[in-house]
Amino acid sequence: MQEPLPPILVTNDDGIAAPGLQVLAQALAAVGKVTIIAPDREQSASSHALTLHRPLRVNRQRDGVYSVDGTPTDCINLGILNLLAHRPRLVVSGINRGVNLGDDITYSGTVAAAFEGTLLGVPSFAISQQVNGEDPDFFVAARFAVLLARWILQVPLPAGTLLNVNVPQRKPHGTRLTRQGRRTYHQGVVERTDPSGRQYYWLGGIPPEWDESPGSDFAAIREGFVSLTPLHLDLTHYPLLQDLQESGLNLHLED
Ligand SMILES: [Mg+2]
Repeated sequence: MQEPLPPILVTNDDGIAAPGLQVLAQALAAVGKVTIIAPDREQSASSHALTLHRPLRVNRQRDGVYSVDGTPTDCINLGILNLLAHRPRLVVSGINRGVNLGDDITYSGTVAAAFEGTLLGVPSFAISQQVNGEDPDFFVAARFAVLLARWILQVPLPAGTLLNVNVPQRKPHGTRLTRQGRRTYHQGVVERTDPSGRQYYWLGGIPPEWDESPGSDFAAIREGFVSLTPLHLDLTHYPLLQDLQESGLNLHLED
């Protein structure tokens, strides 16, 4: 008897109508039984937000395709803890329209969905496509997602870890294993005046600049390679923990 196809949960932060999500889901159908549970609208930069102060509504669009009026993290929770008949063997988030590199990972709803899958004990990866003006076709990224999904289903990731994948705009020269890079400038704020004379502000209107040091996710994308960065959920800075322990830091609260 043939093995049943492994259940795969697919989401994104660009919303259920995003082409990258559809291309990804179609490609992963060659690997497993895909269920899409995705936000009903754009949720980019929603980070790891959970909706706790209002009810969530789920709209079953067709077999195996659900939209949710919430965040990517809501979608993963609903999927794993309620909607899916079987626990997924893999969570894939993407294909995001635009890269998620370096410090920007912390804003990303795409990456946060993979964080949430990992928190719930399911191997997970996020995948994002570089966009330089013209619309990308997403097919190279989708092919890469298929290869990576097959790999992870055979060689499970260690508990508490996930992978962040970024795909360059042009045909990649290959794949590089990378570390998370760094921004080299502070976030910009654009200040303007509206037609009624009131000030308004727009965050992030300035293109990011990155530390181009070798080995970073940014360097891989700039040089035309797929970037594959292993991440983990433990934010502890262990060298500083040790330094603080050795410094004799001892902050006594008054009785
Ligand atoms: Mg997005």
